[in-house]
Amino acid sequence: MDGPAATRHLGLDLGATNLKWTVVEREGDGSWRTLDRGSVVTRAAGGPDAIVPQLGEVGHEAMRRWPGIITAGVGIPGLYDPKAGATRFLVNLRGPWDGYPVAAPVGAALGVPVALINDARAFGVAELRLGAGRGASSMVGLTLGTGVGGVIAVDGKVHQGHDGTAGEIGHQTIDPDGPDCNCGNHGCLEAFARADRIAEACGTATAEEAVERARNGDAAAIEGLRRVGRYLGIGIGNMIVVLSPDRIVIGGGIAAAGDLLLETAREEIRRRVQTTSVSEVEIVTAELGTWAGAIGAAIHGAEVASAAEQTAPAATAPATAPR
Ligand SMILES: [Zn+2]
Repeated sequence: MDGPAATRHLGLDLGATNLKWTVVEREGDGSWRTLDRGSVVTRAAGGPDAIVPQLGEVGHEAMRRWPGIITAGVGIPGLYDPKAGATRFLVNLRGPWDGYPVAAPVGAALGVPVALINDARAFGVAELRLGAGRGASSMVGLTLGTGVGGVIAVDGKVHQGHDGTAGEIGHQTIDPDGPDCNCGNHGCLEAFARADRIAEACGTATAEEAVERARNGDAAAIEGLRRVGRYLGIGIGNMIVVLSPDRIVIGGGIAAAGDLLLETAREEIRRRVQTTSVSEVEIVTAELGTWAGAIGAAIHGAEVASAAEQTAPAATAPATAPR
């Protein structure tokens, strides 16, 4: 028996350094696989006037290589307006981005429907559908890097909130008197656990160097990572208390190297979470690496289009026959 045909979907992941693209295929049984992927240097110096056309060009080239693509998704490194398809605030890319249209011009360049998604939520969609979150009903995801991204999935679906900002775990207040955060608040989890603050806590130039030194037994680096790990554990523990998820997925550049960080975080979670059985919450590292954002954007674009199809008025049959 023939099932539904496989469909192809494009994902674009706009990063401050690289613009990644991927083509994924949704099989007839609903499973996903990656067909192709690539990366170019983001034209960051030119601001939105250079970057938005670049999204169209990169997408167009991917569509030339893989005919039959029917939707596209764009991962945005910050806040956006899902209704207007425009960006609001991107902390690491030179603007002005407030109200800058992205979905419409990229859609016009590609000739397919385009949906935007925050890059951390895209990471969550990808890990949930074909990575470390597979099979989880509820999942909490964190990306540890330049910033601390977050995502929450409930009933097998990434929760977006009314404006796509749900799951900003990195911007929960951990310490009311804590250091300044890029979001305007102070004492956020991100203000302690983003890469440059990890380096600062460990007395090193970079977070990678901190991890390296801690591995070699450097006492100051070990102590610094423990301090950050404690805040991370408090933040994740809060999410466990609120959501009782079955899985926590930790990704981003720092997570891959940060056993010490995660060990301390686990201890802190066990110490603080009293309402649910922590042993039943799996804490795992992400599986899709730096491609999760592009893959998740592609899947999101496909899922938004499918949902729109299902809610659209059925066909165009007129109520009365034409004369
Ligand atoms: Zn913040």
